[in-house]
Amino acid sequence: MSAPRTDHLWRPYTQMKTAPPPLRAARTHGSRIVLEDGRELVDGIASWWTACHGYNHPHIRAAVAAQLDTMPHVMFGGLTHAPAEALARRLAGLLPGDLDHVFFSDSGSVAVEVALKAAAQVWLNRGVAGRSRFAAFRGGYHGDTMGAMSVCDPEEGMHRRFGRYLPEQIFFDLPDSRAREAALDEGLARHRGSLAAVIVEPLVQGAGGMRLHAPEVLASVARLARRHGLLLILDEVFTGFGRTGTLFACEQAGVVPDLICLSKALTGGTLPLAATVAGAEVFAAFWSDDPAAALMHGPTFMANPLACAAAEASLDLFAREPRLAQARAIGERLAEGLAPLRGRPGVVDVRVLGAIGAVQLAPPLDLPGLKRAFLERGVWVRPFGDIVYLTPALTIPEDDLARLLAAMREVLG
Ligand SMILES: *Cc1c(COP(=O)(O)O)cnc(C)c1O
Repeated sequence: MSAPRTDHLWRPYTQMKTAPPPLRAARTHGSRIVLEDGRELVDGIASWWTACHGYNHPHIRAAVAAQLDTMPHVMFGGLTHAPAEALARRLAGLLPGDLDHVFFSDSGSVAVEVALKAAAQVWLNRGVAGRSRFAAFRGGYHGDTMGAMSVCDPEEGMHRRFGRYLPEQIFFDLPDSRAREAALDEGLARHRGSLAAVIVEPLVQGAGGMRLHAPEVLASVARLARRHGLLLILDEVFTGFGRTGTLFACEQAGVVPDLICLSKALTGGTLPLAATVAGAEVFAAFWSDDPAAALMHGPTFMANPLACAAAEASLDLFAREPRLAQARAIGERLAEGLAPLRGRPGVVDVRVLGAIGAVQLAPPLDLPGLKRAFLERGVWVRPFGDIVYLTPALTIPEDDLARLLAAMREVLG
């Protein structure tokens, strides 16, 4: 037995006994993280894909500062406020189809919980019993809370370990072949009586391994969900706000879900905020004279005004500046910069979509060694599983991007 290595902090996804101590961040600017010891790192992952405009953007800072002067927070039960109303209106305007009804929360996992709960309650409110399970896909990641975990990849999500603590869902392979499409069609037909909805990450399964699928695959999921009378939930927590080259990934497949989950880049990487946005049909199922038909959810910090102001300012930047073109340009640089790794020993695959570049390696990986090698080159890149990936700020300067790509080629080549 030895004493804990650091202070009172319990770190995420970390075996604290054996992991090296975390680095101490002091400041951020642009696409850089400055450590307390003076080292400055080029950030290859934009703080888990949130900092889409780079760090400390003056427009977002000004909006949050102005909101801080008037009203940092107020409860959302019985009250509303201009920052929430403006942001909801704006999101409804940007989202495709009739996704017009915005429920705010504070993290991606909770946005997913709300979507699952709302989907299950749609059936209860319609007087249909027994439809409380979900169809989900292998390789998916939807968050760390219980409901969200239950729809994550069953192996990665450690379903067996948590046993009956997790609700049991029904898993499929993404329908990226005729055979898999037929299996999904048949499986949904068989289980439709117990299913509330199908949940999927559109175009890229992010934290589950940066696996890409074609827009046609997403369109097929949507078509089969409709064919079997199931609701469709899209988890765009990772893909939302430009990461795949369009504002929302679902646009590339022309798919409009019944519920969509947004978070990560919603506030431009500044404050925690999430939204679950419902279409007309879902909302209508809650519109009733029966108080028990209301959506029974309400996070304490729901629609926090500071976070809403930050999100509104972030969307200003998407409107004013060529973020989507920047994302696509980064994609071209990623494709060209990572291409030399293709076919190298130990490299299984190189894949790029929008401003996402992922290199899949053959196990076993020396994760601590890889992390050290990237740090030595002054870049912040965090491999996980068998994946080393770049998801930089959409505003990353060319020389910083070049440094990231050079480090990837040196370390992985
Ligand atoms: C990160 C992520 C979540 C969970 O979001 P948190 O804010 O970490 O709770 C859910 N779904 C997807 C697709 C994500 O990438």
